[in-house]
Amino acid sequence: MTTDSPAPLEIDTSKAHPARVYDWLLGGKDNYPVDEAVGVRLPAEARDAARQNRQFMHRAAAWLAGQGIDQFLDIGTGIPTQPNLHQIVQEIVPTAKVVYTDNDPIVLRHAEALLISGDEGVTDYIQADVREADSIVRHARRVLDFDRPIALSLIALMHFITDEQDAHGIVRNLVATLPPGSHLVLSHAASDLYPELAAQVTAEYARGGIKLGFRTRPEVERFFDGLDLVPPGLVTATEWGVSSTETAPEGSGIYAAVARVP
Ligand code: SAH
Repeated sequence: MTTDSPAPLEIDTSKAHPARVYDWLLGGKDNYPVDEAVGVRLPAEARDAARQNRQFMHRAAAWLAGQGIDQFLDIGTGIPTQPNLHQIVQEIVPTAKVVYTDNDPIVLRHAEALLISGDEGVTDYIQADVREADSIVRHARRVLDFDRPIALSLIALMHFITDEQDAHGIVRNLVATLPPGSHLVLSHAASDLYPELAAQVTAEYARGGIKLGFRTRPEVERFFDGLDLVPPGLVTATEWGVSSTETAPEGSGIYAAVARVP
């Protein structure tokens, strides 16, 4: 486990935090009254979106492991919620190595749950901000072999990073460290699918002191520039990795895709 973040490591219960609001939305217990206060004001669809997003993570992780990917770098991991990514992939590839990263001290506090790897695999945790990409990659290299394919997952993370903070450049730089055959897994709240709900959610998070920047489809597509989207391409969270014989999936305001590094 690595912590060299300049961010404070105390749990601040005086203001809402993204990881804890998300935990509340998923029905978890690792949140505080300030987080719940944001959660209860959100439209009910926000809870659906959190669940749909988490289920996309389950399907995408299983698909990647099924492709033989055995190295994972997951940034913006969130508070542990069963099943966690390593549990999904190690069920399929027991030797899989998973490096988790988050910048919220609450995730660090619960990191033990992320570090209980299967006997044959490895898990590790880095306390860092996605904007410190160099530091993340330097630490991840201790566990992952960057000469072999890696799945980089940025799931429901990049809408916390603004254009001024160079969201697209951050992803581009991270992807540039990955060898051919690697994959980017990314989901992102949409500003253009359910615009009124999106505006409402963004406003309530802002009231809670959390800045969110939902993006349009073309803006989310740009995260995949230069990569090969795997079928079905950029869709919504409920549409990715479901068999077409099933009845139409429920609507979702989350864009999701997996792409291969050529
Ligand atoms: N990826 C998980 C959790 C999503 S919630 C899932 O999809 O189920 C978003 C997570 O991103 C939170 O845990 C939050 O703490 C983290 N996060 C937000 N901004 C971040 C940043 N700048 N650097 C690293 N993690 C960040």
